[in-house]
Amino acid sequence: MKKHNFSAGPCILPQSVLEKASEAVKNFNGLDLSLIEISHRSKPFVDVMERAQELALKHLNLQDKGYKALFLQGGASLEFLMVAYNLLEKKAAYLNTGTWSSKAIKEARLFGEIVEVASSKDQNFNYIPKNYAIPSDIDYFHCTSNNTIFGTQMQNFPEVSVPMVCDMSSDIFSRVLDFSKFDLIYAGAQKNMGPAGTTLVVVKEEILGKVSRTIPSMLDYKVHISKDSMFNTPAVFPVYVSMLTLDWLQELGGVANIEKHNTKKAEMMYGEIDRNPFFKGFVTNKEDRSKMNATFNLLDTSLEERFNTMCREAGINGLNGHRSVGGYRASMYNALPLESVKVLVDVMQTLEKQA
Ligand SMILES: *Cc1c(COP(=O)(O)O)cnc(C)c1O
Repeated sequence: MKKHNFSAGPCILPQSVLEKASEAVKNFNGLDLSLIEISHRSKPFVDVMERAQELALKHLNLQDKGYKALFLQGGASLEFLMVAYNLLEKKAAYLNTGTWSSKAIKEARLFGEIVEVASSKDQNFNYIPKNYAIPSDIDYFHCTSNNTIFGTQMQNFPEVSVPMVCDMSSDIFSRVLDFSKFDLIYAGAQKNMGPAGTTLVVVKEEILGKVSRTIPSMLDYKVHISKDSMFNTPAVFPVYVSMLTLDWLQELGGVANIEKHNTKKAEMMYGEIDRNPFFKGFVTNKEDRSKMNATFNLLDTSLEERFNTMCREAGINGLNGHRSVGGYRASMYNALPLESVKVLVDVMQTLEKQA
């Protein structure tokens, strides 16, 4: 039996996707060849790349709006510096909502002046700062939509007159937003889309080509656009699995439908965290809670061993909190069934009854 996989990343993918992916490794599209042993420039793979790009734009409702979808390598972590390399001439503004934002700021500082418009570091990032001022003399504004480690999620995005860049690694394709507000979105595949090894970058072409520095080819979005994500050998397997996941999402009725499913899971999870006197949520501002990653603690830490054993026996995997937060983190990405949340809630209730 498949485990109830609450892993924060790499994380659960749809079982049907895993089955198709493993078949393609053995025999891709009935070609009697493996997906990973054919040329990335062959028609069957070019079709995969094109379909993945098309579906990514479609799910974000960004088709025919001047955006390009790229499947790059180097993870979201490389985007921290690629964004600055390509967009930062003098000054940019960043909202600091956690570890990943802090890392993005650190890299961007290598390229110019970075204004941190607000930070929730004072409370170990357990809330999303609000009512901050964003300077207007900046090249772009950068934020992180979902803070995977701390379990906070932005519900509102500021209105800015400069390009808005967003790290959506851990909530892309999980909810409907007006994605046209953003000029560059990036996401490592391994949270909600596919295996680690590729990063989706969706960029509005008109914001590129404005910095004066020379950009190395591999770090230049314009080069990747001109070569349709095939400047060098792309991560064929991760791109293929991402395409399968995006297809799966399409069959399920797209982002609007998966959002309903994600809301149900989050309501069930937070409902129990709030109700059960043995547990306490890490994020106290309810409107800042992430629907993807619910962080919580056991109030009596001496019960941890018992709770961990009960979880293990129920087939629950990946519930440990990040080392910088401790406690527990239930990651409820698109592919996690409601049933898995129900199993976790049952274990929490059993602990309450027995303790
Ligand atoms: C996991 C994660 C990253 C880092 O992604 P890599 O692909 O490992 O570089 C960056 N940002 C967010 C929000 C993440 O969740």
